[in-house]
Amino acid sequence: MELAKPGGEGTGATPALVWLWQDLRLTDQPALAAAAASGRPLVVAFVLDDSAPGAWALGGASRWWLHGSLDALRRDLAARGAALILRRGNLRHEILRLAAESGAGEIHCGEPLEPWLRGITDGLASELGALGVVLHRHNTRLLFDPTMLRTQAGGAFGVFTPFSRACHAIGVADAPIAAPTRLCGAKPLASDDLADWGLRPEQPDWAGGLRETWQPGEAGATLRLGEFLAGALAVYDRARDIPGHASTSMLSPHLHWGEISPRRVWLAAARAAPVGGKSPLGFLNELLWREFSAYLLWHHPHLPERPLRTEFAAMPWRNDPAGLVAWQRGETGIPIVDAGMRQLWRCGWMHNRVRMITASFLVKHLLIPWQQGEAWFWDTLVDADLAANAANWQWVAGSGADAAPYFRIFNPVLQGRKFDPDGAYVRRFVPELAQLPAAFLHAPWEAPLAMLKAAGVALGATYPTPIVDLASGRARALAAFRNLPRPTA
Ligand SMILES: Cc1cc2nc3c(=O)[nH]c(=O)nc-3n(C[C@H](O)[C@H](O)[C@H](O)COP(=O)(O)OP(=O)(O)OC[C@H]3O[C@@H](n4cnc5c(N)ncnc54)[C@H](O)[C@@H]3O)c2cc1C
Repeated sequence: MELAKPGGEGTGATPALVWLWQDLRLTDQPALAAAAASGRPLVVAFVLDDSAPGAWALGGASRWWLHGSLDALRRDLAARGAALILRRGNLRHEILRLAAESGAGEIHCGEPLEPWLRGITDGLASELGALGVVLHRHNTRLLFDPTMLRTQAGGAFGVFTPFSRACHAIGVADAPIAAPTRLCGAKPLASDDLADWGLRPEQPDWAGGLRETWQPGEAGATLRLGEFLAGALAVYDRARDIPGHASTSMLSPHLHWGEISPRRVWLAAARAAPVGGKSPLGFLNELLWREFSAYLLWHHPHLPERPLRTEFAAMPWRNDPAGLVAWQRGETGIPIVDAGMRQLWRCGWMHNRVRMITASFLVKHLLIPWQQGEAWFWDTLVDADLAANAANWQWVAGSGADAAPYFRIFNPVLQGRKFDPDGAYVRRFVPELAQLPAAFLHAPWEAPLAMLKAAGVALGATYPTPIVDLASGRARALAAFRNLPRPTA
């Protein structure tokens, strides 16, 4: 498909500016497609503003990913005739400056979801409008516009099941927009050098596991989708909770950075129809959890900071820096928790089941505020997403919309035995326990001394003893919960 009309540099047409954020792709990119269809030469830009008030500055793993994603996009755009202009600084100033430098006649961007970005974008729309430049906002990140989905009474959904029913009822009909084969780039503007942004670590280089695991960029996303459709999708419903098997799509960072559109993933999975011709509902519903998270953030802008259920503000959280550090380092003495936290540190990603187990252990057994876990995930996940991270932490903590009840406390030993029965996951990430038989792997303190010795395990020396007694931690959490004030209606 040829989206760009002839013209461009030297034709006299004023350019269209495409301002990118978490929509770093060419395929099914409505902002890029609309700008290209305008027939104007294109200026494509990405602005990094870490210091905007209220913005969550990108964590280390996100920065690593962003470098790769921008690098890939720069090459993809160049191959089609357009440059990627990089600017770092105050977002509002930089967009106004780009508009002025390019003489843009119109601007296209994705509809912002983050509360801080919504504020800046609203302000820019007015300022640019006063200058006669229209800012067009396109839905580049979601399947469903959060303002369109309402309960029958006209309110916002607070429960996933009716929300997902409403989504299924609307359906995902439109075919993805093909990537342009050629773009008409405007006269290039000055751009920062990506290497100068210092997004990737130098010394110490902690990113070896990230490099082994991921290929940021649209081509990497397409590859990952193809592998998933050809393999794990067929067994997704029964295997997705087993962290020792590659049973989920691992598309989350690609979806987060918009290297692949959720519509493309949805339609490809729906058409793959792997299980006896049935729609892969389990997987499609996970995509709807992503939508639900964004929807909650849209309707509750304080979601990343404050509990949705206000009574949780009175929770007697503990200040436990040593417990927090043990959890972050994967040295709690609870094998499934430690395996998850080490997977996170090494790969920048953790299996969903283990995210739930590690999060529950932090907020319940250790009674550490969910915001501290959220902050660590934010820094270390390559898919760190303001909406999904906050919504899921609140879900686990019991303070969110449609949350797991607080009194339902995961027992990490039973969870480990159920979902990692052969211990493949723990053995991979906690190698010092690898020689233990599966029956004792998830609770090494129950193993006879001779067995520990034969496996080379000395509790308290080669592997920690548990930092909390699981039964007492559970009782303490339940007592704290029972003392909360009654929910306000
Ligand atoms: C405490 C906690 C924090 C989390 N933080 C994040 C985060 O920062 N970013 C993030 O993308 N996901 C987060 N999740 C959700 C989920 O764990 C990941 O999306 C999932 O593990 C990604 O792996 P996958 O791509 O293989 O998922 P798949 O099982 O293949 O699912 C497909 C896609 O659906 C979406 N999805 C799946 N589960 C969820 C969910 N529970 N909530 C929202 N979207 C979902 C993701 O975009 C995912 O890529 C968190 C979960 C928990 C319990």
